[in-house]
Amino acid sequence: PGIHEEPAVLAPRKKTRKIKVGDVYVGGDAPISVQSMTTTKTHDIGATLQQIAELTASGCDIVRVACPTDKDADALKIIAQQSTIPVVADIHFQPRYVFAAIEAGMGVRVNPGNIKRFDDQIPEIAAAANAHGTAMRIGVNAGSLDPRLLKKYGKATPEAMVESAVMEARLFEDAGFYDFAISVKHHDPVVMVRAYQLLSEEGDWPLHLGVTEAGPAFQGTIKSAVAFGALLSQGIGDTIRVSLSAPPVEEIKVGEQILRSLGLRPKQLEIVSCPSCGRAQVDVYDLAERVTEGLKDVTFPLRVAVMGCVVNGPGEAREADLGVASGNGKGQIFVKGKVVDTVPESEIVATLVARARAVAEEMGLE
Ligand code: SF4
Repeated sequence: PGIHEEPAVLAPRKKTRKIKVGDVYVGGDAPISVQSMTTTKTHDIGATLQQIAELTASGCDIVRVACPTDKDADALKIIAQQSTIPVVADIHFQPRYVFAAIEAGMGVRVNPGNIKRFDDQIPEIAAAANAHGTAMRIGVNAGSLDPRLLKKYGKATPEAMVESAVMEARLFEDAGFYDFAISVKHHDPVVMVRAYQLLSEEGDWPLHLGVTEAGPAFQGTIKSAVAFGALLSQGIGDTIRVSLSAPPVEEIKVGEQILRSLGLRPKQLEIVSCPSCGRAQVDVYDLAERVTEGLKDVTFPLRVAVMGCVVNGPGEAREADLGVASGNGKGQIFVKGKVVDTVPESEIVATLVARARAVAEEMGLE
């Protein structure tokens, strides 16, 4: 284990149709992409582009913007032109904004349950999307389920959401349009996981995973990690969006970490720190935080062990590229499980940073 290790995955990816959102492929053998959504007023073009730039820098692959008013629809073209990652317009209620987004060169997310007489307009939307090479997402949402399905099932059950999504998907396909992904989001991870499982049995559409309204950062992170983990470990899911009541950059960090944890994205810095216990001779929480901060610019796969004492240090650090075990105000520094240095506690972080660079150089990674 350690540097150059090939990530092991839990299940082969389910084969889905590959579509292209701007220059990013989704589905098929394309890497699982991470998405977020801006929180700015879309018509405030400067602020929206600024947030898109921040998201891009944090690793966001595809970004979505809301389009609730004419002013927002008018801003789509410039935003699409200026963004360096694909932009998707999120359309509810107003079908004419679907056409505005298509013409602006954006991807489009439609919520069939929120657009009146949507089905009647599908042939026209399909033709426009085909003419512009637009990718779409059929985004069924528990909170805005098609009234017909709500009547039939009484509430947004997994079956109801899947029936709605499949119905719309078939209408698009009958109209000759195939470049779409589907999502069936629910706030309850159990319902959401079941819905995606059912949906993935129904067809080969690329699936966009999301737990909607997942909550504040702590709860939302856990809900999303559990739900996405359950699905991705079965090979289900082609693109993900973590929804948090927190800045969108946080959503990207969480999304990337979920994929890394499952071996679905190359690992970067991984801190393997002990939970601390009565044997600890250092404040492990503080040390782990300082080591993480000191190595935060590391862009190559590096596993760093931070151990509170020397009892288990060498053993526990053996599987890491680098490690430290503390004792008596000192830190024993390990490289590949071997003690290479012993330094005062105040020099632990600086020594690890220097060693990390040396390891990277040795491996030809920097
Ligand atoms: Fe406890 Fe030492 Fe293990 Fe940390 S490394 S949990 S301090 S025994």
